[in-house]
Amino acid sequence: YNFNEMGLDDRILEAIAKQGWSKPTPIQEKAIPLALEGKDILARARTGSGKTAAFCIPLIQKILDAKQTMKEQCVKAVILTPTKELCSQACKHLQLLTTSCSREVKVLDISPQLPLPSQRPLLIEKPDVVVGTPTRILAHIKAGNLNIRDSLELLIVDEADLIFSFGYEDDIKGLLNHLPNIYQAFLMSATLSEDVKALRKMVLHNAVILRL
Ligand code: AMP
Repeated sequence: YNFNEMGLDDRILEAIAKQGWSKPTPIQEKAIPLALEGKDILARARTGSGKTAAFCIPLIQKILDAKQTMKEQCVKAVILTPTKELCSQACKHLQLLTTSCSREVKVLDISPQLPLPSQRPLLIEKPDVVVGTPTRILAHIKAGNLNIRDSLELLIVDEADLIFSFGYEDDIKGLLNHLPNIYQAFLMSATLSEDVKALRKMVLHNAVILRL
C-alpha cells in the first residue's frame, strides 16, 4: 500500500505530502488499513518507527468521516500517554497532519502541564480529540468537565508498556467505567509485556496484533 491507495481524505494526503513523506513506514502500511476497517489493534512498535502517525492518520480520517453525519460537536477520540511530554508530542503530530483540516479536527492537550481548572473552559468547547494522561483525563471526567460515554469512538494508548509502571493502573480501571460499550481502540507499545497483556484485556476487544 502507498498512502494514496488507502482511501484517505485528500486533506490528509495533502498534509502527508507537505511533510515530505513519500511512503508509509512498515507499521503505517500494516496498521492504517486495519484501523480504517474498524479493527482494534495492539502494535508492538518502537519510537522512530512512525508509530505516532500510524495512529494519528486513521484517527483524523475517522473524525472527518464522523463530521459528515454528526452535527453536534463532541469528543470522539481520546489519546492516553504516560507523560506530558508524550502528550505534547502526540498533539504536535496531529497538528502537522491536520494542516489542511484544522477547523474540522480540533485537538486539545489536557496533560497535567496546566492546572485542571484552567482546562475546563477549553473542554466545554468539546474538542474532537483530547490528549492527556490517564490521571488527568479521569479527573476531568469526575469533575464533570468531560463526558465520553456517549460520543467516544476511538481510544488510543501510546507507550502502553509504561502505563502500569508509571502507576496508572487504577486510573485506567476508573476510566473503563466511563467508556461507551462500543468503541475502537489501539494500543501502541514497545514491548508485549505482561502489563501490556493486562491492559489489552481491559481495553481491546478481538484485537489484531502487529509485531514489527
Ligand atoms: P515516531 O516513531 O512516531 O516517533 O516517528 C518518528 C519520526 O518519523 C517522526 O519524526 C516522524 O515525523 C517521521 N515519520 C513518520 N512517518 C513517516 C513516513 N511515512 N516517512 C518519513 N518519515 C516519517
